[in-house]
Order: sequence, then structure tokens, then C-alpha cells
Amino acid sequence: MTTTAEWLDRAAQLAPRNELFIDGRSVPAASGQTFDDIAGRDGSVITRVAQGDTEDVDRAVGASRAAFDDGRWARQTPADRKRVLLRLAELVRTNLDELALLESLDVGKPIRDTLAVDVPSCATTLQWYAETIDKTYGEVGPTGPDALSLVTREPIGVVAAIVPWNYPLIISAWKLGPALAAGNSVVLKPASQSPLSALRLAELASEARLPDGVLNVVTGPGAVIGNALARHPGVDKIAFTGSTEVGKSLLRAVGDSDVKAISLELGGKSPQVVLADVADLDAAASAIGWGIFYNSGQTCNAGSRLVVHRSLREELVGRIAELGARLAPGEPLDPRTRLGAIVDDRQLAKVLGYIDLGREEGARIVAGGARAREDSGGYFIPPTIIDGVDNAMRVAREEIFGPVLTVTEFEDEADAIRIANDSPFGLAAGLWTRDVNRAHRLSRSIRAGIVWVNTFDAADITVPFGGFKQSGFGRDKSLHALDGYTQLKTTWFDLSG
Ligand code: NAP
Repeated sequence: MTTTAEWLDRAAQLAPRNELFIDGRSVPAASGQTFDDIAGRDGSVITRVAQGDTEDVDRAVGASRAAFDDGRWARQTPADRKRVLLRLAELVRTNLDELALLESLDVGKPIRDTLAVDVPSCATTLQWYAETIDKTYGEVGPTGPDALSLVTREPIGVVAAIVPWNYPLIISAWKLGPALAAGNSVVLKPASQSPLSALRLAELASEARLPDGVLNVVTGPGAVIGNALARHPGVDKIAFTGSTEVGKSLLRAVGDSDVKAISLELGGKSPQVVLADVADLDAAASAIGWGIFYNSGQTCNAGSRLVVHRSLREELVGRIAELGARLAPGEPLDPRTRLGAIVDDRQLAKVLGYIDLGREEGARIVAGGARAREDSGGYFIPPTIIDGVDNAMRVAREEIFGPVLTVTEFEDEADAIRIANDSPFGLAAGLWTRDVNRAHRLSRSIRAGIVWVNTFDAADITVPFGGFKQSGFGRDKSLHALDGYTQLKTTWFDLSG
């Protein structure tokens, strides 16, 4: 196994790609400007990355548009397109160490997770969508004898995929897999905290022989680039994952421009509902703890609200706190580290601000609650539990996006479901009970895109992912994601003559 010293050495040798990727080439921003890409693990500058602006958006959209309009990708045979995406999936696997290192440096994730989860999951997603390409059929409408109607799926055109920093490779693959499989061209806008893996992925796509212009990457401030993409007449669809606030601004931009298609995967505040008849309290404590502390809580579907029956609260909170105490944050490049850094100083201040707010609102911090490893220069927060939370408090209503669990107790089942649903968000939920009828009944009452019963965050690429309410609309993953990157065409033939 590679040691911490070896990973640190590799990090020091790394020369990350830091220019825009347009029309099959790395190019500087038209303005020549760059911005600092900061490592969450120690606050150091990893590299200076090209800071694109509207001129670069024009270049990238122009390259995508040309690639789509001349059919260099969309009109290749399905078997050929499949081979390209399978090659890309394989290149992601063969470049595991480099991609994992880029992701750990950018986001502050533990290297053991980027090696075991982020990079393999990206490869699996690309492979899975590659395999759909030559297995997708059109339809023949049930018209009368004098007509033949074909219902075919066509790519939408130029897709602008705007993605967040918490799972850069995984979420990019959730967009690129179905978008490219369906024959679209893509402009990918990674978050400014985590541009490096996207830039390398685009280069690998070229190596896999994806034609020039089909995948372009523009880095730079979201308020400039994302907004320009949403208003650009050359873009046919916005596929966004990020905060609800930015999602709303994109909806306005799309409405003000040319009514392009849009899908939004937004924030969450997912409840973990633990009923008095839970079968295995230890298993629940472990899944609930990991469900909020993994990736330092920077997960859209993190189970951040524990909604627990009064009779179990003390015991369960104690067991989750024990797990939290064993998960002290550490150096992300140490292969033994289970909990890494917070992505940047702004996010650190935001999470610490919410912990203070919890105190001010009258709740109790019963685990964690203060910055850790400050000497490293990085941004670390230990697993934190805020007990005695009323669901009306802001710490229970707003997305904290850190390793912070709030605890709210209930008396009866109806109360539990009311609290679970009393949220602007509806991304995910956990439900813990030994009664199978109750599990079916209550899971139907919870308004969320995914409900886990007696587990949490278990999933694979075969099932859709996305939210209800202000967690957005549209779905990533599974065959359903292809609906978001295709449009149906009817072609009607008159056979009467
Ligand atoms: P964010 O601030 O909304 O940013 C997401 C992306 O949008 C980034 O690429 C960002 O670029 C860009 N952006 C920022 N301002 C923009 C604007 N005015 N117009 C267009 N684009 C803009 O979110 P984040 O902090 O990166 O990610 C955390 C959020 O994502 C959380 O709310 C989390 O729940 C959500 N999320 C949801 C899912 C899901 O599937 N539902 C998955 C993961 C994360 P810059 O970085 O350059 O600002």
C-alpha cells in the first residue's frame, strides 16, 4: 500500500492540467487570467487555474455546437460510440492513482475514499451508460393501416453541465455518461474549488478518441460562466447540480433567455426517522453516523436530521457520539484517514457559524463543535451532534453541509412523519423499524426522492437519484437519466397512396 509519505511526494511532483479544455486542446483563458486552486488539507495553492469568462463560454459553446451540428459524434454508429465511452471508462480505471490524488487534493477527501469510491464509481457510470448505447430502441406507434409512425429519441444538442465540488468526478460522470451516450455535446463547468479532475477527464476523453469539441471544460467563477451558459442561445440544456439558491437563479436565467431545457439536483436536509421498534440499534447508529459524517457531511443526501423516538434518543445519540469520537479528522493523504477536510475556508466558516447558531437557538452541542487540526493550515471539523433541536430552528431547516447531526425527538408515528416532511427539501430519508407493513406505509408518506429502509445511502447506478420539493427536479442515474438528455421525435408516414 502506498504510504502517506509517498502520496505527499506524488502530490509535490504533480503537474495538474490547469487550462481550459476547448475543441480537443488545453488553452489559456482568453483574458489570460487565473485563480488559485486551494487544497482543503493545508490551505496551500495546488495550482493556478485558467479563469474563464464570457468570451471563453462563447468559444466552448461554439466548439460544442459545431461538433453537434456536423454529427461527428451523434451520427457515429452506436457501436462506435459505445467503444469510445468504454475506452474512457477504462482510462479512468488505469489512471486511478492520479485522479484519486487530484480529487483528494482539491476537495480534502481521504485518499482511501477517492481510490475506493470516487474514481471507480466514475468509471462504472461511464461504462454503464456506454453499454446502453446499442441497446436503446425507438418505437412504432399503434396507428391505423394507412400510416406508419416512428417515435425516435434524439439528442438534445449542446448540454451545459454545471457541477458542485463535493463529488466532482462522480457527479460529472452522472451528467457526462447519459449526455454523451445519447449523442450530445457537452460544456462542463466544474466548481472553482475542484476543477482538476474534470480537466484531466476531458483529456482522457480525447485519448479515448472522443471527437474534438464534443466535451469542453470551462473553469472560472460560476456567477459569470454558469450564468452565461444559461443565457447562451447555443446551449440547449442546463444540467445543474448544486445549491437551491443557484438553482433558482438558473431557472430565472433560462426563463429570461430562450426556454432551454433544465434539470436541477439541489440541496437536502434528509431526516433519519428511528421508530421505537428499530430492530438493531447498533446497526442504526453506525449507518446514521456514517450517513452524516462521511465526506465530512458534504453530501447532498446526508442524513443530517435525526428524528428519533423519545424512548431511544439518549441511547442512540450516545452510540452515534461514540462512532464520531473514533472518526477524528486526519490528513487526507494518510491512507488510514476516514474523515478528511472541509473543502475551503468559506465552507469551514459556514459550518462553524451554524454550530454557533445551534447554541444561540438553545440546542446543546453534545459532540464535536469546534475546529480541529488548525496547525495543519487546513479546514477540519470533527463529527458534531446538536441535541435538543426543535424542527423550527434554523439548524434543522437549512443545509449546513458539514459533519453536523441535529437531533429532534418525537412521541408518536404521526409526529415523526410530520417532522420528517416539515422541510423545504425532499431529497432523501432513512426509516428504521422492524415492522415491514409500517415500513411500507410510512415510506409512502415521506416526500423524498429516495427512502432507505433499515439502511442509509445504499445505491448503485441502476436506480434514479434526485429530489422532491426544493431539492429539484429531473433524475440522475439509471435509464431514466437518458430522458433528460434526449427528446422524442414523431415521424409520420402516409401509406394511403
Ligand atoms: P453551488 O454554490 O450552487 O455551486 C454549484 C456550481 O454552480 C459550481 O460549479 C458553481 O461555480 C456554479 N455556480 C455558482 N454560482 C452560480 C451562478 N450564479 N450561476 C450559475 N452557476 C453558478 O453549490 P456547491 O457549494 O458547489 O455545492 C454544494 C451544494 O450542492 C449543496 O447545496 C448540495 O446539497 C448540492 N448538491 C446536490 C446534489 C444532488 O444530487 N441533489 C449533489 C451534490 C451536491 P463556482 O464554484 O465557480 O461558484
